[in-house]
Amino acid sequence: MIERVVIVGASLAGLRGAEALRDAGFQGELTVVGDEPLVPYDRPPLSKHLLTREISTDLTALPNLTSLDARWLLGVAATSVDLKNRIVELANGERLCFDQLLITTGTRARPWSNPTEAALKGVFLIRNFGDALKLRAKLAAMPQHVLIIGGGFIACEVASCCCDLGLPVTVVAPKALLVHALGKVIGDIVAQMQRDAGVDLRLGVRVSKIEGNSLFQVQRVHLSDGTIIDTDLVVVAIGAVRNVEWLQHSGLAVEPRGVRCDQFCRVLNPHGEILEGIFAAGDVAVWPHPLYGHRLIAIEHWGNAVAQAQTAAYNMVSKTAQTMRVHEHLPDFWSSQFGVNIKSIGLPQFADQLVFTQGSATERNFIAAYGEAGRTIAVVSFNSARWLPAYRDQINKPFPPMQGALNQFDLSPLNPEFALPNNR
Ligand SMILES: Cc1cc2nc3c(=O)[nH]c(=O)nc-3n(C[C@H](O)[C@H](O)[C@H](O)COP(=O)(O)OP(=O)(O)OC[C@H]3O[C@@H](n4cnc5c(N)ncnc54)[C@H](O)[C@@H]3O)c2cc1C
Repeated sequence: MIERVVIVGASLAGLRGAEALRDAGFQGELTVVGDEPLVPYDRPPLSKHLLTREISTDLTALPNLTSLDARWLLGVAATSVDLKNRIVELANGERLCFDQLLITTGTRARPWSNPTEAALKGVFLIRNFGDALKLRAKLAAMPQHVLIIGGGFIACEVASCCCDLGLPVTVVAPKALLVHALGKVIGDIVAQMQRDAGVDLRLGVRVSKIEGNSLFQVQRVHLSDGTIIDTDLVVVAIGAVRNVEWLQHSGLAVEPRGVRCDQFCRVLNPHGEILEGIFAAGDVAVWPHPLYGHRLIAIEHWGNAVAQAQTAAYNMVSKTAQTMRVHEHLPDFWSSQFGVNIKSIGLPQFADQLVFTQGSATERNFIAAYGEAGRTIAVVSFNSARWLPAYRDQINKPFPPMQGALNQFDLSPLNPEFALPNNR
């Protein structure tokens, strides 16, 4: 009989997991612990409409989908798990007993490698609400120049916001834009979108130093090719780090990519054995995805956080292992930048082939499908999201997908040009 459930991580996966537990009939004591002092909020607007002030700060709260009977302990971090006695220890000394534990501690922004440079005034990260509010205020004060380090989605979205605000912006990335997520072929289209919008794009170079003035305010940035760029605001958007340190000595299988789970969201120990009653979901989880040959996958996508939390909750209250559900959610992602709505389904990064199946790349209005070993594994749309549902059932079917046949397109596959070997 499950009497006490503790969820650690009070954000998207934590909230949706808690709701799903109640929906699945759990009637015992439910405690949600979060180190942020805020009730759960939505992160996607933080790098988009919040920065441009298209939405107000109160519009980022995550709506509750049900009225939730739970005890919320906010503003306090969990510091460890005692598996033997089934206790979560908190930073304030409180100890929470549990029968079942759901870990949803997500990720944090990867900090700039030099702490002195990272601490300069005018150097920003963006992961949480506080980060976004500070950056929003700085952007509103009209800095003379913004320099963004990174070529992923968040970097591109912040660059887009700067353009919308009429700010001069430089983006510095070591490889093509979005190369890990979508490959260089699509990344080059995004790069052209940026150049057309006036972004000073520096690809294939790294930031070697962020320099401040005597007031400790960022003043200029040095690049690996010897270039020096004057700037008064730097946004560091170089990826994320899993929040797993608190689990380090707890007997769970923890790796840099996250907390290792099986396909039912059950956490494993370092020997690969199931830890009964311990589950993980969302950005912090790494698990073998059945749709992708059971490769170990870690996904930092909103849709997966919701779906995986719901699967985990369902399995937590399942009477037997036989009634548990496999987490086989088809990954999806969206982004909006430079007037283009980008959406994807599947996991492009394993692809060895790419075809444009509809629309026009030059008009940034197209669908492209990704294939691996002759089957379709992902599809990305630029300003064509209405077509995506028609491609969903093409995933895992022969490549190129049938939809392409609707058009008179040359379906000769291209190499998508992922940045190997990091993406595999
Ligand atoms: C700026 C930004 C823009 C994004 N845009 C998109 C987008 O457009 N589309 C998309 O699909 N996805 C997007 N994402 C990703 C999406 O927001 C995440 O996938 C989602 O937030 C994951 O939810 P989560 O609950 O797993 O983790 P998180 O949202 O990271 O939440 C984890 C929570 O646990 C807390 N925590 C960590 N350690 C502890 C501890 N020891 N004790 C207690 N609490 C702890 C954290 O502080 C945090 O509150 C974006 C993310 C960011 C940051």
